[in-house]
Amino acid sequence: MLRTHTCGELRLEDAGKEVILTGWVQRVRDKGGVIWIDLRDRYGITQLIFKEGETAQELIDQATSTGREFVVKAQGKVIERYSKNPKMATGDIEIEVTQLTVLNTSKVPPFTIEDDTDGGEDLRMKYRYLDLRRTVVRQKLQLRHRMMQETRKYLDGQQFIEVETPVLIKSTPEGARDFVVPSRMQPGEFYALPQSPQTFKQLLMVSGFDRYFQIVKCFRDEDLRADRQPEFTQIDCEMSFVTQDDILSMFEGLTQYLFKTVKNLELADFPRMNYAEAMQRYGNDKPDTRFEMKFTELNDIAKGKGFNVFDQAELVVGICAKSCAEYTRKQLDALTEFVKRPQIGAKGLVYVKYNTDGTFKSSVDRFYSEDDLKAWTQKMDATPGDLLLVLSGDAHRTRKALSELRLHMGSELGLRDKNVFKPLWVVDFPLLEWDDATQRYYAMHHPFTSPKPEDIEKLDTDPGSVRANAYDLVINGVEIGGGSIRIHNRELQNRMFKELGFTEKEAQKQFGFLLEAFEYGAPPHGGIAFGFDRMCALFDGADSIRDYIAFPKNNAGRDVMIDTPSTISQEQLNELSIQVKK
Ligand code: ASP
Repeated sequence: MLRTHTCGELRLEDAGKEVILTGWVQRVRDKGGVIWIDLRDRYGITQLIFKEGETAQELIDQATSTGREFVVKAQGKVIERYSKNPKMATGDIEIEVTQLTVLNTSKVPPFTIEDDTDGGEDLRMKYRYLDLRRTVVRQKLQLRHRMMQETRKYLDGQQFIEVETPVLIKSTPEGARDFVVPSRMQPGEFYALPQSPQTFKQLLMVSGFDRYFQIVKCFRDEDLRADRQPEFTQIDCEMSFVTQDDILSMFEGLTQYLFKTVKNLELADFPRMNYAEAMQRYGNDKPDTRFEMKFTELNDIAKGKGFNVFDQAELVVGICAKSCAEYTRKQLDALTEFVKRPQIGAKGLVYVKYNTDGTFKSSVDRFYSEDDLKAWTQKMDATPGDLLLVLSGDAHRTRKALSELRLHMGSELGLRDKNVFKPLWVVDFPLLEWDDATQRYYAMHHPFTSPKPEDIEKLDTDPGSVRANAYDLVINGVEIGGGSIRIHNRELQNRMFKELGFTEKEAQKQFGFLLEAFEYGAPPHGGIAFGFDRMCALFDGADSIRDYIAFPKNNAGRDVMIDTPSTISQEQLNELSIQVKK
């Protein structure tokens, strides 16, 4: 080894030892008479000291000419520091250097390698290897590492077997868009990169593996949205001979174990809420339950009083913002602007101030008497000092818009503390989702999800009302994982494909292998997959997943460091029988 210790290791007890350290030069400070170098590696920073008059002049000259991010080896004696730095683990000591070797020089880095860097996102991504030298970024990957190791420990302890499934698979029309890979040996044919190992893990159940997991890369060629990565990592799991309850408790266990081991937090049993209630009370299938502010529907008392907007609306629904009656005109205007933004799409916002003196002031005073407004406040459990915010319109859109407003208010009122974790199982999702544009049903989760047995008969008469044995784990309004009990019977799977608009021939062509496998003793099974990158960000109280990925893509799906996607040579194109339109 070139070194005897790391830069994060030495303490006062080590004073007097002869040591050799290696690392990067964080900073050189020349205080006239004394020169300090902060030497950094993955483990920490140790201060090197050179004193004029005591250290050889040659060594001093060498120290002062060392640039930022030079890689050096320093030999010397550990001494107690004159002025200690309690903020640093190695802050009690420094190294009196007797020999300094430059192992490599460095150009001046394009941004400062500090926790608070002056580098913008683009620059940091272009020089991601330098960005990764920053402690704050490295710590995020260390957290990821810890989460991975603990996940493996837990699942291994529960008899799960880690199996790798292929990356070159078959494109299927269902779900998101596939990334495809042209085949050289079969001109005109393509592999697809997996959006998830779904069918493979189900086949492993047919093989009798019983409990499978994989920490696996998945690929989805979806449209660009902030904080979405075309390749991402899942903790993918499947179990045989289980009910939904068994799966929820197994993975509630995993989540609790991770919170305990990684964050030393004990999470109580996770509450469960069905999809219908989540939509009705929060307007969202992943409600942030760190705060209440649940929806109250006002149709019965707000309609029929001559206010046209409400009278024509399918739904009148509101939230109660505690202690906000004092909101100013300006604040209320800002909220109105917020809900009218195209992404939110409400036409307007009605407010009612329930003043502390018991009087009311609303934006619809012309249409509603004091008694009417009082009835609203009663229905919404408001007390004097509260502010009611009410939206109306078509039910689905209005709920969505109010959900955004609720989250916005939650943030404004400081109710979304990143250090508080509120998990929730959302269960009983609908099996199918109608799409107006294509005039057909899509699987809400995926085509392999089983309907609730008691709802199967409605598949023919009222497909939209069939509920699935599907569930999501939501923490703080973020969907962390989702899964389902699967269909394990050929007939039902065929019926499902039919419901999704597949002809028998298409179903056979796409998924014949699975349908056939179901005829060779497929056990009842189900599973779940966690979005691992997102989970890491959530654990760390961060909004963006990008920093939890060593080499992420930007919002345009581009890796700006290696500069890809990129063109390939004509020769490669020929080999792949691909013609590129110029
Ligand atoms: N494969 C599913 C997904 O990626 C998860 C599951 O059903 O286990 O969403």
